[in-house]
Amino acid sequence: MQKHNFSAGPAVLPASVLREAARAAANYQGMGLSLLELSHRGPEFTAIIEEANALMSELLNLPDGYRVVWLTGGASTQFYQVPMNLLNEDETAAYVNSGVWADKAIKEAKVFGNVQVLASSKEQNFTHIPKGYKIPKDVKYLHLTSNNTIYGTQLHKFPKSPVPIVCDMSSDFLSRPVDVSNFGLIYAGAQKNLGPAGTTAVIVREDMLGTVRRHLPSMLDYRTFIKENSLYNTPPVFPIYVSMLTLRWIKKNGGLKGMQRRNKTKAALLYNEIDNNPLFRGTVETADRSLMNICFVMEEKYAALEDDFMKICKANGLVGLKGHRSVGGFRASTYNALPKKSVQALVDLMQDFAKRKA
Ligand SMILES: *Cc1c(COP(=O)(O)O)cnc(C)c1O
Repeated sequence: MQKHNFSAGPAVLPASVLREAARAAANYQGMGLSLLELSHRGPEFTAIIEEANALMSELLNLPDGYRVVWLTGGASTQFYQVPMNLLNEDETAAYVNSGVWADKAIKEAKVFGNVQVLASSKEQNFTHIPKGYKIPKDVKYLHLTSNNTIYGTQLHKFPKSPVPIVCDMSSDFLSRPVDVSNFGLIYAGAQKNLGPAGTTAVIVREDMLGTVRRHLPSMLDYRTFIKENSLYNTPPVFPIYVSMLTLRWIKKNGGLKGMQRRNKTKAALLYNEIDNNPLFRGTVETADRSLMNICFVMEEKYAALEDDFMKICKANGLVGLKGHRSVGGFRASTYNALPKKSVQALVDLMQDFAKRKA
């Protein structure tokens, strides 16, 4: 049966990318060797990482002074690596608390310096993006989360900031064009919209670095990875390779504008159904709805039907739709690689269910 993968992460990857990755794992370019057993310093992997960096630079239209590095430890490592590299103990960074991931980033930053939380939607269980805050001029950076994976909210317009913006883009990285010149540092765990778990892409403006007084272990100093082109130690070669294949796929499918068009179409299709179907309703403020993670629940009086609908989805090959435990209900993650026909399959099931139950 054809499966439709709505998982929040690790998440759907383009079918053509998975086929090519499988071939590379078995026999890379007819060499009689798997890519998994080739030296990371050999010509094959050197070509892969160079192409990955070049594609990233092209797709994001990276201005001068920005560097791409491939790290490990997930986005969660960036929660502390960012303040460790950017924030002195007597300095302050501003954070916006828009979800559990932001909350964790705040907790880690406090280990290294002062944190000013400018705004938070925690009291409302993060059902909207905090807005209307003033960004102080004397903070080292402003930390934002562009897409809140668990709740399904997304920052559709970045604030004008007098200080560099550091952004956790894990769950909407490369889903739309962004003006990188507004950011000092962007990080994204690969497993939501870029590739397999195991690598984290970091885009950093080089002049952000070198201002902290503390001693940085080599492995946690961004400059080590810039200097060594992400090859200071053995990098996660296969996740980087599959990410490179995904970058090629993005380029072939219209770049970030193409991704944005696809994502807007898919999200509109599903939100339209959520808003018009008598059984379901959305869970976040309409203006802040995410194009990547679409959260919805059963209307109160139909709440008992939730398990039924989940079973129907499973029986029809739709997987990964269970909402995060802190929100409940359903979450359809509609990342770049999810085909429109998967969203259509979900919409069809919702309509059919309403015909029978409403
Ligand atoms: C998934 C996610 C994280 C955590 O990523 P790990 O790679 O598991 O550490 C952080 N931030 C956001 C926005 C996420 O979606």
